[in-house]
Amino acid sequence: MTSSLLLGLIGDGISASRTPRMHENEGAAHSIPTIYRTIDISSPRLAEATLTELLTAAVRLGFDGLNITHPFKQQVIGLLDEVDPVAARINSVNTVVIGDGGRTTGYNTDVTGFSAGFRAGLDGAATEAVVQIGAGGAGRAVGFALAELGIGDLIIADTDVRRAEGLAADIVETSSVGTRARAIGLDELDGAAASAQGIVNATPMGMKAYPGTPVDTSVFGSETWVADVVYFPLETQLLAEARAKGCRMLDGSGMAVNQAIDAFELFSGRKANPQRMRETFLSFGA
Ligand code: NAD
Repeated sequence: MTSSLLLGLIGDGISASRTPRMHENEGAAHSIPTIYRTIDISSPRLAEATLTELLTAAVRLGFDGLNITHPFKQQVIGLLDEVDPVAARINSVNTVVIGDGGRTTGYNTDVTGFSAGFRAGLDGAATEAVVQIGAGGAGRAVGFALAELGIGDLIIADTDVRRAEGLAADIVETSSVGTRARAIGLDELDGAAASAQGIVNATPMGMKAYPGTPVDTSVFGSETWVADVVYFPLETQLLAEARAKGCRMLDGSGMAVNQAIDAFELFSGRKANPQRMRETFLSFGA
């Protein structure tokens, strides 16, 4: 049984991440002393450090696991001993378990995290036709999660249309439930949103630095459901406008908390308490 946990998050500009405190609090609640460090490549100490160096150092120093975030989720795959089939299919790893002898195994809990958040917050929502905006790092996880949730028609828009096309093609190629994914141009977005049952924002629009909404919400009906992956702020302008129309909504906390819940179980072998994890996450303020 795990007697203590040494964990870390490798990424760029992650000093404000809420993930360390979620794992440390949860570990303590299970009587597993847990240290979770941010390994931020924007800090002067790590100037010019490579991902290979950081991963090797973590393995050598006895880390039990790592979370991996922007810009390394794809790059890390080639450095691991083993990759879970779902993460391999998506070509993105956000969780690395470091086992006996330093053996590394990669997983993707962004996908399972979005799915769990969706099931908890939008249970029973209509899934025949959904518009997803944004096909970047978070968007890839969201797209594959939506396909696994059984979305019939998944329509993907991104300012970089090739990204949307690439994600749609990858989903069609690998979807076991036959999701019909396709990319559209931004000029088709409002029309597609008007006839969709659900809208998912996986762009940074709605964050303080990116104000506004990624789609014209006047095309939504009150039956449209709206999900956002942005979690700072929790209520984006998109969700505020959707709320005013009486739409069902899911904010970005579901994905953020559930990816940590699933990673905690992989790291510790213990089930995290969802309510406690969520309270820790929300204790940072919205
Ligand atoms: P990213 O830069 O990898 O991808 C963003 C994508 O959105 C890009 O492909 C970009 O071209 C596209 N885009 C930007 N503005 C657009 C617009 N107006 N219309 C259409 N497409 C547009 O970023 P990311 O890592 O995917 O992060 C996106 C957001 O998701 C951020 O706000 C991030 O904080 C959030 N996020 C949340 C979670 C969570 O757990 N809730 C996890 C990861 C990321």
